[in-house]
Amino acid sequence: MKAITVEPHKPETTHLEDIPEPDPSGGSVLVEALAVGVCGTDVEIVKGKYGWAPRGRTRLVLGHESLGRVLDPGPSGVLEAGDLVVGIVRRPDPVPCPSCAVGEWDMCRNGRYTERGIKEIDGFMSERWRIEPEYAMKIDSSLGLLGVVLEPTTVVTKAWEQVVTVGQRAFWEPQTALVTGAGPIGLLAALVARQHGLDVHVLDRAQSGPKPALVRALGATYHTGIVADLGFQPDVIVECTGAGDVIADAIQAIAPGGVVCLTGVGSGGRAIGLRTADVASNVVLRNNVVVGSVNANKRHWYKAAQALARADRAWLACLVTRRVPPEDFLSALNRQPDDIKVVIEFAQL
Ligand SMILES: [Zn+2]
Repeated sequence: MKAITVEPHKPETTHLEDIPEPDPSGGSVLVEALAVGVCGTDVEIVKGKYGWAPRGRTRLVLGHESLGRVLDPGPSGVLEAGDLVVGIVRRPDPVPCPSCAVGEWDMCRNGRYTERGIKEIDGFMSERWRIEPEYAMKIDSSLGLLGVVLEPTTVVTKAWEQVVTVGQRAFWEPQTALVTGAGPIGLLAALVARQHGLDVHVLDRAQSGPKPALVRALGATYHTGIVADLGFQPDVIVECTGAGDVIADAIQAIAPGGVVCLTGVGSGGRAIGLRTADVASNVVLRNNVVVGSVNANKRHWYKAAQALARADRAWLACLVTRRVPPEDFLSALNRQPDDIKVVIEFAQL
C-alpha cells in the first residue's frame, strides 16, 4: 500500500512509497484512510527538526490528524464496518508515570510517551492503518470529511478545560476571551469559546483572505494589529501564535484574575525589555495564571467530538481550504497564504 514516510532528523527524506499492509500488532481494528490533515508539526518533521522513527527502524509513516473508515472492526464489538473514526495520537509511557497511569497521558511526566506519526509509532498517512479499539474515536457520520479536524479540536478542548479549571480557583465569571492567531487552532479555540457563551475576539495579522469572515461567522470580533490596542482586558487569552511579542503582550493585557493559556510553540521574538520581576509583579498583583497546554487525553477527545458535532458544518467546511492527493504531498506541506487546514485525501468518502 502507498504511504508517506520520512526519515526523522534528515531533511528531504519524505516520499510516497509502497510499504507492507499494517501489522495486526498495531491493533485489531483495520481502517481505510480517508484524509489526513497537515500541521506545523508535520512540516517540522519533514524539515528534519523533529520526530522519531519506531524502534529498530529508520523511517516513520507521517501524519497524526486522521480520518478513516472502519474496514474490519475486529472482535471488540464497539465499532462496525463503515464507521468513521479518528485515531488518538498519544500513547502512555511504558513505566507508566502517575499521569499516564490514570489515563492523563497528555500530562505525561517523564516524556517517554509515544505518538502516532510523530514519536516512535507510525502515523496515519497510509492507505490503511490499524488501531487499538480504545484509541479509535468514532465520530458523528454527518461530519464526513470534517472529522479530519477532530485532532486539532482536541488540543483546544484541553486548553479550554485548563482555562476553566484554573479560573475556578476563585469566584470567576469570564465575559471576554481573546484568541491570538487565526490558524486552525485559533479558529477552533474561538469556536469552543463561543460554544461556552463568551464574547470572543480573535487577533491575527491577516487583513484579507478567509479568516476575518470565519471569525465573524462565529459571532466573534476580528482584529488585526497588536493586543495592546484592543482597548479592553480579556478575562481569558488563548495564545495560538507562539510568537514572543504576542505572548508578552498577552501577559500584559490580561484582566485581573484572568488566565493566559499558551498553546503555540515557537522560538525567539524581539527582546522587549520586560524584566522578569516586572512581569511577575503584574501577575502577582492581578492574580493571573499563565498556563501551558499541549496534547489531549481521551476525555478531551470525547468532548471535542461533541463540540464538532454541535458546530455548523458549513463553517467547519471553510476550515479545509485545500485537499490534495497523496502524490502531491509536497504541495500540501508547502503553506500558501490563504491556507487554513490542508488535507491529504487518500480515498473518497
Ligand atoms: Zn507518562
